[in-house]
Amino acid sequence: MPRKLTHFVNGKSCAGQSGRFSDVFDPNTGAVQAQTPLASVDDVAKAVASAKAAFPAWAALNPQRRARVMFRFKALLEEHMDELAALLSREHGKVVADSRGDVQRGMEVIEFACGIPHLQKGEYTEGAGPGIDVYSLRQPLGVVAGITPFNFPAMIPMWMFGVAIACGNTFVLKPSEKDPSVPLRLAELFMEAGAPAGVLNVINGDKIAVDALLEHEDVKAVSFVGSSDIAHYVSHTGAQNGTRVQAMAGAKNHGIIMPDADMDQVVRDFLGAAFGSAGERCMALPVAVPVGKDTADEFIKRITPEIKKLKVGISTDESAHYGPVVTAAHKARVENYIAMCEKEGGTLLVDGRGLSVPGHEGGFFIGPTLFDNVTADMTSYRDEIFGPVLQVVRAGTLEEAAALPSNHQYGNGVAIFTRNGLAAREFAAKVQVGMVGINVPIPVPVAYHTFGGWKRSAFADTNQHGTEGVRFWTKIKTITQRWPDGSVDDQSFIIPTME
Ligand code: NAD
Repeated sequence: MPRKLTHFVNGKSCAGQSGRFSDVFDPNTGAVQAQTPLASVDDVAKAVASAKAAFPAWAALNPQRRARVMFRFKALLEEHMDELAALLSREHGKVVADSRGDVQRGMEVIEFACGIPHLQKGEYTEGAGPGIDVYSLRQPLGVVAGITPFNFPAMIPMWMFGVAIACGNTFVLKPSEKDPSVPLRLAELFMEAGAPAGVLNVINGDKIAVDALLEHEDVKAVSFVGSSDIAHYVSHTGAQNGTRVQAMAGAKNHGIIMPDADMDQVVRDFLGAAFGSAGERCMALPVAVPVGKDTADEFIKRITPEIKKLKVGISTDESAHYGPVVTAAHKARVENYIAMCEKEGGTLLVDGRGLSVPGHEGGFFIGPTLFDNVTADMTSYRDEIFGPVLQVVRAGTLEEAAALPSNHQYGNGVAIFTRNGLAAREFAAKVQVGMVGINVPIPVPVAYHTFGGWKRSAFADTNQHGTEGVRFWTKIKTITQRWPDGSVDDQSFIIPTME
């Protein structure tokens, strides 16, 4: 019998009462390794009640004390890095070194959250009118929630709860049902760091849990990261209910290769950015756009043999470049897109289908795949594939190349490879995409900047982490004060102008 996972509510593990479960696979073997409970509306209500009970005391704690919990949590993350990375790889399938990066990137947001006493300071204007001062406060919202995808089970939960909890909110996390063990372990470590019970709760589940969070009147804000249709649904439903929502979504990132680019570097960058983590990253680089025929021919000539040399292996194989995809269903989806792209007229140069890793024949492996002559009208180009598939779209000029990401439905990340500063500057200024890399293939901003895409890559006004995160997880209050000294004897029926 696979082991049964739990929820984490009010400082302890709890089984939940729904009686519904979902399988958690070992993507290396294909076997079911655990079952995660799928919360009922009542299970969610208990988690929200626990967060609500913890809120007044947590919000009243001075910010440096909240920051100290973050400091201790960060130290525990460092101490438990190997354990967390191993746990993450076992359920997600990414290689262990990559899982360490997942934890590290989340930990950097916790480091950022350690600065909350400074970040949450308000503003003050002395003498805005006669004897009148104006000041503003950034106050926490109350109980807030995060709904996260399978592909970064450490980093994305920490993007959200790191900043939200440091700001004084209490949190209910609904992680992906595909790899819930790392989020559960993070909640335990957060308690060990000194967080009171109920400040961080983890509720496992599916649409029923998501809807329950969106409909609960005590949940004041929801941050979502996942695929675009669901992100759109979450943002729409939240808006209808009057809940503050941000919803980060799918992606199809382009890398523009200019004729003057350093081709050795470009090939190395594309290998990592297109195939790392089996392409299951919203900031992966699955579309290459070489500018000019010579650039395209050279790119294809140089990258094809390197792709054929990539090693796909189990997640604990230190020599593997990447591991399996997350589920059999996801493997089938990616392979369908490979068949579709071929049917649509893409030239299949390297076919990753049918790959088998000896001793792990049941694992969800897909070899690296390369297509040339892909065009903007193909469905396989317009859709997010989210697998180890690189599509080359040839362009004649920089204008033609830049129009591709600008006109694409997604606008998460984009990169340009060139030695021409002026061309890069123009491109970065004009392209209709939220995060731009200049000779940087995966431009994920550092924690004290901010993460978010445009168009169907994000349904939100505020980004994740950085000062944008602090804005999302707080509400502003502005206070206008006067301490009368008896000298003012006014009665006015006009709007005060403070002349
Ligand atoms: P997903 O949309 O299937 O799941 C995301 C979350 O939504 C999970 O917690 C899941 O349980 C929940 N969910 C699933 N079905 C639902 C439904 N019908 N109603 C309500 N909630 C539901 O996404 P995924 O497959 O876990 O993750 C991959 C996707 O996430 C890709 O599209 C990727 O680009 C995107 N992603 C985006 C970013 C970003 O910041 N833009 C970052 C990482 C991943």
